[in-house]
Amino acid sequence: MIVALSLLAYAVVLAGAGPRLLQAGSWADRAPRLAIAAWQALTTAIISSVVLAGIALTFPTVQVSNDLAALLHSCVMAIQAHYASPGGAAAGATGAVLALAVLGRAIWCLAAALSGAARERARHAEALDLVATAGPRTGIIVLDAAEAAVYCLPGRRQRTVVTTGALQALGEDQLDAVLAHEHAHLAERHDLILGMARAMAAAFPAVPAFRSAAAETARLIELRADDAAAERAGRLTLAGALLAVASGRHGHAVPAAALAAGGSGAGARIRRLIPPRSPLGRARTTAGSLSLALLLALPVLVLGGPAAAAAGHAVCPTAADGTGIEVSVR
Ligand SMILES: [Zn+2]
Repeated sequence: MIVALSLLAYAVVLAGAGPRLLQAGSWADRAPRLAIAAWQALTTAIISSVVLAGIALTFPTVQVSNDLAALLHSCVMAIQAHYASPGGAAAGATGAVLALAVLGRAIWCLAAALSGAARERARHAEALDLVATAGPRTGIIVLDAAEAAVYCLPGRRQRTVVTTGALQALGEDQLDAVLAHEHAHLAERHDLILGMARAMAAAFPAVPAFRSAAAETARLIELRADDAAAERAGRLTLAGALLAVASGRHGHAVPAAALAAGGSGAGARIRRLIPPRSPLGRARTTAGSLSLALLLALPVLVLGGPAAAAAGHAVCPTAADGTGIEVSVR
């Protein structure tokens, strides 16, 4: 019970304080890839803590044994003891419902979101096959539209779409810059990262941390793609290109399942590109990465480590020789 409550408390603290910690200061803008990983780790840690809390309530802790037969025997003994009392049975049932409900809803909403996005992309790709023409570079197709827009359709039949309006508005270097931005979206599968964040926000609308994760992920993948493009084309070239495509009414041409170069927060992104880049530095990046690993590992450590050593060990005699192995019954 203590383990389950610790895990639930950890999930509540993470959901409450996590978003504020991650949004403090300007570090995320300087290291968007690390920040994206941080929001993913926060979401995963919250959900896994609640699921593991349910598991901790459902199954009594059994100490690890090298002898598989003895381990199985001790498991059966511990579970029988756990469910023998009305309190243990109620806690076990509650835990099972909690773990299955949270895990089931997360998986269901994720599958629904990803398959929905794939269907929408496929419909849009079919429409493009009818109206788009071959572009000036390989892998690029051109859509006849006055508004300047550049966007990519991720997935198996991935493609990058440029409107005739964008071809007129962008110089050669600027076109290279926005194409590099789209290439980063496709190569790093930003559609999946954003799809997962939005699916968790839709699955658990009562958790504001997941809404923050989805909004921040949408913003951060644009910053990450900008950084990748700026490395190839130069920051000011990219800023000029974003200005050209952002000033068009790109919302009409770009489908919801696509990732557009002139997408969300273009003004702030252009302002960010004007001064020279100031990355976080190796020491702070390493410290951040280690913190994320700890964030993810802690629920498993809470469930596995202290539980095995917890007080309240009872001895279950084995059927064969009666030597007995220790079983923790909570
Ligand atoms: Zn983009």
